[in-house]
Amino acid sequence: MVQTNNRLKIAIQKSGRLYEDSVTLLKECGIDLRNVKDRLRTESDNFPLEVFFLRDDDIPQYVEDGVADIGIVGENVLFEKNKSVDVVEKLGFGKCRLSVAVPRSQEYKGIASLEGKRIATSYPRLVEEFLHANGVKADIHEISGSVEIAPGIGLADVVADLVSSGSTLFMNGLKEVETILQSQSVLIKNKSLDAEQQNLLHKLLFRIQAVKKAKRNKYVLLNAPNDKLKEIIALLPGMKSPTVLPLADSGWSSVHSVLSEDEFWDRIEKLKAAGAQGILVVPIEKMVI
Ligand code: ATP
Ligand code: ZN
Repeated sequence: MVQTNNRLKIAIQKSGRLYEDSVTLLKECGIDLRNVKDRLRTESDNFPLEVFFLRDDDIPQYVEDGVADIGIVGENVLFEKNKSVDVVEKLGFGKCRLSVAVPRSQEYKGIASLEGKRIATSYPRLVEEFLHANGVKADIHEISGSVEIAPGIGLADVVADLVSSGSTLFMNGLKEVETILQSQSVLIKNKSLDAEQQNLLHKLLFRIQAVKKAKRNKYVLLNAPNDKLKEIIALLPGMKSPTVLPLADSGWSSVHSVLSEDEFWDRIEKLKAAGAQGILVVPIEKMVI
């Protein structure tokens, strides 16, 4: 038990698409949670963190009010609710987009053709902003779930809904025609945290960034003929410079370095071409630089 009254209170989704990733992120940050199964609130034994499990729609309000100090929520919900909170960090999961979709049988002739249409959505504010920015007036019907069935049952002409793969739209005979917003989960914070809470948030953020960075990078080990070492090392950025160790076989060295995901395949091909052998690629758990 951490002996302090000062805890950071975090709000995460109770159940749904963000739940697993939010809990996993905290675990990867080395934060053990008790009684996650109760799913109302819990606290950590090894970090002064208290976790509230809430509906995602309520999280911005709770953080604005200071009931929770920080929260994890999709940008879609955050921008729709328009509460006064700060975004601390993009978390890279819960990726989706808010899109306009029309019945597949209909020919779509651009944003102007939405004029006067009935649009079903759970995001009236974002849809209104989008229409306004495009000089279109339409009739927004706010519904809280199963938006995609609205055209089929005659409730609306088109929908504005969250999409990731697009399979739900497809199954409901709809096609995506406009993107209103690209969204992912973010860490938000109350605007007036005290010094102690700020300090705890910094600690948590330091860990989150180390986890995120590790996911974007791989540890690479390879064998290099000594006469090719210079060329091979030039292909490896590493954190400072690569580690080079002699192998038992004379004339060969073992080279260790870190490669980012974006440049990974390109570099591996070049390393092979430059004479590297026995290339091993290992995931990194945490990365602090
Ligand atoms: P709650 O009961 O908490 O209100 P919900 O039904 O509103 O849950 P979920 O469907 O669990 O919400 O989605 C939570 C969040 O996951 C969304 O707000 C969005 O940020 C993200 N998300 C990612 N991909 C999708 C998708 N394809 N459809 C819906 N949400 C998605
Ligand atoms: Zn919700």
